[in-house]
Amino acid sequence: MSAEELNKEINRRRTFAIISHPDAGKTTLTEKLLLYGGAIHLAGSVKSRKTQRHAVSDWMEIEKQRGISVTSSVLQFDYNGYRINILDTPGHQDFSEDTYRTLMAVDSAVMIIDVAKGVEAQTKKLFKVCRQRGIPIFTFVNKLDRFGKSPIDLMEEIEQVLGIRAYPMNWPIGIDGNYQGVYNRQKNQVELFSEDGTHGQNVIASEVGSVEDPVFAERIGKENHQALCEDIELLDMAGEQFDDEKVQHGELTPMFFGSAMTNFGVQNFLEEYLRLAPPPAARESSDGIIDPQDEKFSAFIFKIQANMNPAHRDRLSFMRICSGKFTRGMSVYHDRTGKMIKLAQPQQFLAQDRTIIDEAYPGDIVGLFDPGIFGMGDTLCSQGHKFHFPDFPVFPPEQFARVQAKDTMKRKQFVKGITELTQEGAVQLFQQAGAGTESYIIGTVGSLQFEVLEYRLKNEYGVDLLMQMQPYEVARWMENGKEKITPSSLRGADRGMFVYDIKERPVLLVSNEWALGWITDNNPDIKFYPVPPDK
Ligand code: GDP
Repeated sequence: MSAEELNKEINRRRTFAIISHPDAGKTTLTEKLLLYGGAIHLAGSVKSRKTQRHAVSDWMEIEKQRGISVTSSVLQFDYNGYRINILDTPGHQDFSEDTYRTLMAVDSAVMIIDVAKGVEAQTKKLFKVCRQRGIPIFTFVNKLDRFGKSPIDLMEEIEQVLGIRAYPMNWPIGIDGNYQGVYNRQKNQVELFSEDGTHGQNVIASEVGSVEDPVFAERIGKENHQALCEDIELLDMAGEQFDDEKVQHGELTPMFFGSAMTNFGVQNFLEEYLRLAPPPAARESSDGIIDPQDEKFSAFIFKIQANMNPAHRDRLSFMRICSGKFTRGMSVYHDRTGKMIKLAQPQQFLAQDRTIIDEAYPGDIVGLFDPGIFGMGDTLCSQGHKFHFPDFPVFPPEQFARVQAKDTMKRKQFVKGITELTQEGAVQLFQQAGAGTESYIIGTVGSLQFEVLEYRLKNEYGVDLLMQMQPYEVARWMENGKEKITPSSLRGADRGMFVYDIKERPVLLVSNEWALGWITDNNPDIKFYPVPPDK
């Protein structure tokens, strides 16, 4: 393949995540983007309709039951010559680690804001991660079919709460709760919205025309037309100037108004987004910057999932391609083990439908059948150019439980399940010093992870869990630069619980920072780390 052809493939790719607070409309918007991309033909209008049709990105049963997204799904489709990869991020705060890793794999993000609620807690957290990465962030103000805050107030809120200036790409026409359409600032045209009576199940065309056209002025009403003209003038005069450079650095967010449920403004958003969002970017590595145009293949693993589809009992690892061309069956160098691995069954996704793919390019996400080789953050590269991408950060666990199988006969499945789910990065696994292997200590960042663990062990491994919450909130990895620390060499070890992590590194669990203070004061030769010290 020539450099020119590779370049062409890279430039038409857009890989992004949608971030939002639960219920802002992420699932609905994802589904509508697929609808406009022709990847599905009838949108389910998720959760709003009695038909119980679930959004195509809702994979796991637990998601349906609880109405939250547990795992990040990956969807690919084409639109107007673009190849789009959407990575769905869980909206729930308990899944910050998973979400964080997903955001490492994207080139831009779409932030959905509920017009009535404005910037919410989870939006803030996710936004912060995107900001740290310096990726472009696009804003979609959703649910414009309802009453909400005024567009001006929302712009101010984004600026004040998130600290980013917003540039409205379009502007709602009409009065709050009864918007008739949007004014497209780039094209200087009015786009009136029409409803076909199916609540957005189908793609619908909007009526488009010039803002000066008297027909439109009449359609939207004299007062609304006048108000619109005033708003436009105000935005042009007093608003932020559009600056692509700032957008690309995540310093200015293009802001769109619409309603995912009724398809209002969705197509316009998609087209403008594709035009402005960046193609796959270069990444840092142990060997300097890796350019996507580099003809040598490289990728990293950002997600591992066991039993993704109950119909195929298997484990899939997802890689994000960073450079070069991927071809099915190619052998790559696995940096962590130093081995060559043949990538034989690469898969891509449209929800439950998996397809074996023959080739893929930077920006693409490929699922690899994984017999347990891959770890989170692993680098895959070409033998001719060995390096590794930076490790993912590890988050300190804050909640702990002792778990064991209710039925001792199921011990084998229990150990298998716990081990696999730990490898996925869903929970952190510890073993109490001196204890047998019938029980383990599990550490998580949030309590919902325990429920997910319990549910998945039962459903995927047939194991009922006995779970006892432990009175600890702080974990510290310990090192003194000499010998391995043991319960007898640590003063005050009985003030907490002495455990080992899966790499057999010593860790102390204590109830709070105060208890930790006593331990650190009395063990001055030991260093204490909130995450494994080699991270
Ligand atoms: P998620 O939790 O962010 O994935 O949100 P969902 O897409 O599941 O949407 C949450 C709820 O808001 C559902 O009941 C949707 O039908 C509803 N919803 C989504 N978009 C819109 C919209 O544009 N207008 C209105 N009125 N409701 C919407």
